[in-house]
Amino acid sequence: MTPAAYVHLDLEAVRHNLAQVKRYAPNNKIMAVIKANAYGHGIVRIAQALEQADGFAVARVDEGVKLRNAGFSQPITVLQGFVCLDELRLLLHHDLQAVIHSPLQIGLLEQQDGGSTLGVWLKLDTGMNRLGFKEADFNAAYRQLLNCPAVRQPVNLITHFANADDLLDDKTRRQIDVFNAATQGYPGQRSIANSAGIIGWPNVVSDWVRPGLMLYGCSPFAGKTGADFGLKPVMSLHSRLISVKNLHAGEYVGYSGTWQCPTDTRMGVVSIGYGDGYHRHMQCGAPVLVNGKRVPLIGRVSMDMITVDLNSQPDAKPGDPVTLWGPDLPIEELARYADTIPYTLLCGITQRVQIVEQA
Ligand SMILES: *Cc1c(COP(=O)(O)O)cnc(C)c1O
Repeated sequence: MTPAAYVHLDLEAVRHNLAQVKRYAPNNKIMAVIKANAYGHGIVRIAQALEQADGFAVARVDEGVKLRNAGFSQPITVLQGFVCLDELRLLLHHDLQAVIHSPLQIGLLEQQDGGSTLGVWLKLDTGMNRLGFKEADFNAAYRQLLNCPAVRQPVNLITHFANADDLLDDKTRRQIDVFNAATQGYPGQRSIANSAGIIGWPNVVSDWVRPGLMLYGCSPFAGKTGADFGLKPVMSLHSRLISVKNLHAGEYVGYSGTWQCPTDTRMGVVSIGYGDGYHRHMQCGAPVLVNGKRVPLIGRVSMDMITVDLNSQPDAKPGDPVTLWGPDLPIEELARYADTIPYTLLCGITQRVQIVEQA
């Protein structure tokens, strides 16, 4: 019996996408970004599939600890670093590297005496205006880290793009120039580009790239799919029809009756909903594959079910297979129907969805 709602994960596609990153950035080491449970794919499983990567990046300390406890010995960078002494000690204990973005962190490091040293990435805020030191404070922060016994030398250097998915926006070029100018002559390793930077800004010079989304086979650029960049989608989301019936023209479907049948309608109910991570804001008309063919979503997405128009498939019956996204139905297209980006759909898969792996 196939599960009611399940995610199929193609781990071969993960390895393919990693090889594709290498093709885009042949002179870089790869820090595979597996934060947020590897964008909803399962952090340990994806770390295993990515064992050829040169290192990993996660957002938070507990994600790094989880990887160490699972036995991974690669370099692991915690992109948010730490905000208290307890977290700093966990980083030291598990040999996790930290992004240093605030004076508070430097203060905590300066209080740390002896023992092991922390690998660090000093973050320059080149225009994202989220984490990091501004240019005016960067050099002073660098000097402090240089003189701090708890810091492993050399101090590595990092920044993050705000808008690299817009190839016409020259802010990215400016961010690169600011970073290069501020870090010139420093001996540490450099890391700049996320997926959009890797694909869209090939002339960025650095030592480490930080791909996330592209490892999962998705396009960081609106209006494109992973396939346009030689990537293979890793996740597909599946379910099945559980009911089929005929409605008359004029009848309403689902909560609030947001959809009214314009003609007599053969209507199918699929066992998937926002309780599984199928976005509630998915608009009517969003494509759903029933028996491999597209039919439109109708009515509102509920917690456990969605409804589709089966007029084009008079023979469809309960039990027939349904695909919500996957290689034959790009998640990038679905994201547009939900007024969001592929990241949120991937991260949104919930606990009750069963996982089926394919090595
Ligand atoms: C999430 C993240 C990445 C990866 O971004 P993608 O767009 O998924 O490639 C890289 N660097 C930092 C600092 C991040 O937070």
